[in-house]
Amino acid sequence: MPGVRTLDQGSAGASPADLESGEFLILQAPMDGWAAPLSEVPDPVFSDKMMGDGVAIDPTGSVLSAPCDGEIILIHEALHALTLRAANGAEILIHVGLDTVALDGQGFTAHVHKGQHVRAGNRLLSFDLEILAQSARSLITPIVIANGERFSIVRRKQNAGMMQGEELMVLRPLQRAAARAEIGYSEIRREFIVPMAHGLHARPAARLAGLAKDFIAEIAIVAGDKRANARSPVALMGLGLGKGAAAIVLARGADAEKAAAALVALIESGMGESEDIAPVAIVAAPARQGVLTGVRAAPGLGLGIAARLSRPAIIVEEAGQGRERETQSLDAALAMVRLKLGAMRGNATQAAILSAHLSFLDDPELAAHAGAKIVEGKSAGYAWRDAIQAQISVLQGLTGPRFGERAADLLDLEYQVLNALVGSGAAPAAQLPPDTILLAEDVLPSQLAGLDVSRLAGIALAQGGPTSHAAILAASMNIPALVACGPAVLEIADGTALLLDADDGSLVIDPPVALQEAARQRIAQMRTRRAQAQAGAQALCQTRDGLRIEVAANLGAVEDVGPALAAGAEGCGLLRTEFLFLNRQQPPDEAEQTEIYRAIAQGLNGRPLVVRTLDIGGDKPAPYLPFPAEENPALGLRGVRVSLWRPELLAAQLRAILRGIPAAQCRIMVPMIASLSELRAVRRVLDDARTALGIADPVPLGIMVETPAAAMTADILAAEADFFSIGTNDLTQYALAMDRGHAGLAGQFDALHPAVLRLIAATAEGAARHGRHVAVCGGLASDPVAAPILIGLGVRGLSGPASRIADIKAAVRDVTLEDCKRLASKALGATSAAAVRALARNPGE
Ligand code: PEP
Ligand code: MG
Repeated sequence: MPGVRTLDQGSAGASPADLESGEFLILQAPMDGWAAPLSEVPDPVFSDKMMGDGVAIDPTGSVLSAPCDGEIILIHEALHALTLRAANGAEILIHVGLDTVALDGQGFTAHVHKGQHVRAGNRLLSFDLEILAQSARSLITPIVIANGERFSIVRRKQNAGMMQGEELMVLRPLQRAAARAEIGYSEIRREFIVPMAHGLHARPAARLAGLAKDFIAEIAIVAGDKRANARSPVALMGLGLGKGAAAIVLARGADAEKAAAALVALIESGMGESEDIAPVAIVAAPARQGVLTGVRAAPGLGLGIAARLSRPAIIVEEAGQGRERETQSLDAALAMVRLKLGAMRGNATQAAILSAHLSFLDDPELAAHAGAKIVEGKSAGYAWRDAIQAQISVLQGLTGPRFGERAADLLDLEYQVLNALVGSGAAPAAQLPPDTILLAEDVLPSQLAGLDVSRLAGIALAQGGPTSHAAILAASMNIPALVACGPAVLEIADGTALLLDADDGSLVIDPPVALQEAARQRIAQMRTRRAQAQAGAQALCQTRDGLRIEVAANLGAVEDVGPALAAGAEGCGLLRTEFLFLNRQQPPDEAEQTEIYRAIAQGLNGRPLVVRTLDIGGDKPAPYLPFPAEENPALGLRGVRVSLWRPELLAAQLRAILRGIPAAQCRIMVPMIASLSELRAVRRVLDDARTALGIADPVPLGIMVETPAAAMTADILAAEADFFSIGTNDLTQYALAMDRGHAGLAGQFDALHPAVLRLIAATAEGAARHGRHVAVCGGLASDPVAAPILIGLGVRGLSGPASRIADIKAAVRDVTLEDCKRLASKALGATSAAAVRALARNPGE
């Protein structure tokens, strides 16, 4: 077969099992240069392997040659990227330089055209290194396997100089490898319960499928009588697993044990799901006259003019023009959408959604369905639509709104691929009038990402759900949005004046002039407040009468440091070190931890760094620690109890902290303390570590107050704890006896409950007896309504996410200590959290 060579027995690095397994595809270096790991490409689209796995070459030559025999299935119109399909189906995407699309072809010459068959070593492109070096972000050229779910890279060269034509990578078809891999192995079973508030929806499914692709074992997820290929995000979504659902990972093959443990650990980590979905009112308010009601999807107030967004229907022919031609068209369209999505930029929320969409494009089940339809004689468009619609009907048949909402993501991909097939890349609604309130049946994430956000004052959808990707995108772009407004919203004429109050769940049609004026003033005030808060974000924080309140950031990784400082953080009030320990097979060793702590400390440039010792267990399991099965993990082995159960982990962590962070900057904090004996045990390990490292300077050792026991014995603990930081998330959970992740109780889970406030007051009083500093690092710290009450109770430091820092500082600067004390004392006597919130909003009453 052209382009597919057999790897001879003498080839270094191939195991006998590899050699037995038949045909390999050898990819030659397509250019002279330095071969580097993809992780070194300064673009997450490549370094995170969103486009596929492979190798990057930093070129020294100016010619790109074919890495193997094959057919050119795509050349980007800017000539900087092309895709070659080898005879065994492997699609090799080569992207010359980064951001070279902006050159629009300048400096590039193509020597081949789409559809041309080439031999390994044939010239494909030449480029002018000088022009590229001046204009491109980097010359580094990723060479990736775009349909990597079908191939594994069994050997690759990296960190080495390469000459064009030398062996760069060796690929093997994956199904064959996996099929062989499972022979002779027994099946591994791991049970799990889905913890994600919204179940196994698109993003978790995509992440899980991405992880499954790292293993060679056959892996399936089974729930009741349904079974899904773990490498297929759409099949995983089709299981319809909601929060609390029980399912099983079944794996068979050489690395089945590891694969099952890793998948279960990823699922049980919750994948950070609860944080990016804003709490919403699920029930629309009753309608008033001239007012439509909807469900808040993104907060805020918008005043503007109605404009409808509609999507042209795409008609597809049913009959195809031959299997080969239709397969090529579909592959080219998929590659085009992949490139388009890969080139899109956005914030972290947008990136997560884009990456889920990218993984759908590679979904093996969708590919198999579409492929089968093409074999039946259907056209590429018909086959793709049929594959998508089949999955949508599976999703829509599931109970619960979340899975139905995810159908919108599939529809989006149907639309994008059909659009690519018919060759119309028209960006929808690019010409919105200023201050548009966008009205639509539903909006696809790709449509939203293509809009000119500066012209959008709000979005009101007839359908949609509050946790749809479009809703999450709207929130991440700060656009007020309502969903589920009903069909009446589509009857509003373009150009009608509208007032959208997302917090109130209302869309006022033709609002009276006075109401418009009042709304304009409120919007202007909100903007001014926000601008003022941003302007003051870098200054140290104090109340109006000069009481200093430290406002710091909660961090989880070295990447968080830059944004936190840019947002005005005065230091780090909580480093959640467990993020270094989760989602991996082995704990990070002392040297790795030391480097990470050092990098964070250096990034903070001398500012205080409060490092929390490992807080795993409970809802944060680690695969390498065999936690005993627990009836009630939230009340079991977690936080400091794990550290004392595995003192060798604690000792290594403390040594790494002491090595990595200068004593003057370092504060160590212990989570989940309930008794003085726990603090004493940790101090003994810390003293041993200091002695071993010859560190004479004292290092403050404080505790998190997260249990009612710690709050009520704060005076006893304060005798030996150097500082306190209150974890209001857990303190509320244990005070109210409510699971902090329970979706059904979310409406009652409020840290401003007077019971929690009394525990905070007790903590502050206990601390004051020994002159200890008290901060809050739980979610309550970043609730601006709460800041004055916390200060009034004796809290002197607040730590929260970077995005909230400007607002926290602004809230503190608005009040005096006397105001705060008065408000706090009223709050302690209030009858409910709602009453406390009402007091905080109108402190004068
Ligand atoms: C808390 O419980 O408030 C806290 C800050 O810790 P975590 O949220 O990490 O459990
Ligand atoms: Mg906690």
